[in-house]
Amino acid sequence: MKLVRSLGRITPALKQFPEKEKRIGFVPTMGAFHEGHISLIRKAKKENDVVVVSIFVNPTQFAPNEDYEKYPRDIRRDREKAKNAGCDILFCPDTGSMYPKGYNTYVEVKKAAALMCGRSRPGHFRGVTTICAKLFNIITPDTVYFGRKDYQQALIVKNMVNDLNMDLKIKILPIVREKSGIALSSRNRYLLPAQREDAKLLYQALKKARKIIRAGERDVSRIRSAIRKVLNKPGINIDYISIASPDTLKRKRKIDENVLIALAAKIGKVRLIDNMLVGVGIKNKGAKIC
Ligand code: AMP
Repeated sequence: MKLVRSLGRITPALKQFPEKEKRIGFVPTMGAFHEGHISLIRKAKKENDVVVVSIFVNPTQFAPNEDYEKYPRDIRRDREKAKNAGCDILFCPDTGSMYPKGYNTYVEVKKAAALMCGRSRPGHFRGVTTICAKLFNIITPDTVYFGRKDYQQALIVKNMVNDLNMDLKIKILPIVREKSGIALSSRNRYLLPAQREDAKLLYQALKKARKIIRAGERDVSRIRSAIRKVLNKPGINIDYISIASPDTLKRKRKIDENVLIALAAKIGKVRLIDNMLVGVGIKNKGAKIC
């Protein structure tokens, strides 16, 4: 595996691979790898000739009051993990070359980016789509791999790719969870033991919602109150509960087709998100979006 730390070296590194049938799979990340990231790298390895993984803690997707400075960074540990999962090129550009002085261009997706996490993190998705557009231009991947854990992010990037006629495919892979049900996240390391107990309730709440939908409940307000009941603990501060169309993220009044149930909550200072696709009428199976 090649570690490329400079923007100027990435194109020559890609050119070292033979041109013939060179399918490039790309996994954009912010590092601090866990099994969620690794599942994307492994899948990319299975489906491509060359796997590029980027690690870039992107400043434009963090608001000034968020954890940009504190975000975990450990390239040495990530390097080993990426290599073992099948990464060919680990691309870790520096902030100054990605956003040089005078940088002035942003990519913004409307509608879906203003909902859910977009409400409490204004400008976040503009940062995400901007860095993705830049990385897609630099890497020229055939397929880019995202996790369903960040469902909204993946959907918005898909919108951008469609709207801007980018010549690549987006694949969205399942959420990897701990045994306890907690969705793996680089931010879980901030949780204290008691907070981890609270964090488990996010998945419990999603499962509860799925259970009652499967039992025939179609009234969104009753589903929301069932979720609230599970999350009703002093340490949990709910940001949103969204029961929405998986395609547009618009809230549903009544459940008449597949739905996305998405949650964001602060547990202490740690903001966690989780979601579940529920297929109405499909027993024991979540809906598929890709
Ligand atoms: P991040 O480093 O947090 O920006 O995440 C990089 C990629 O890993 C994104 O596409 C995430 O959706 C994905 N990812 C993060 N956590 C998980 C998880 N628990 N399961 C699957 N994919 C994940």
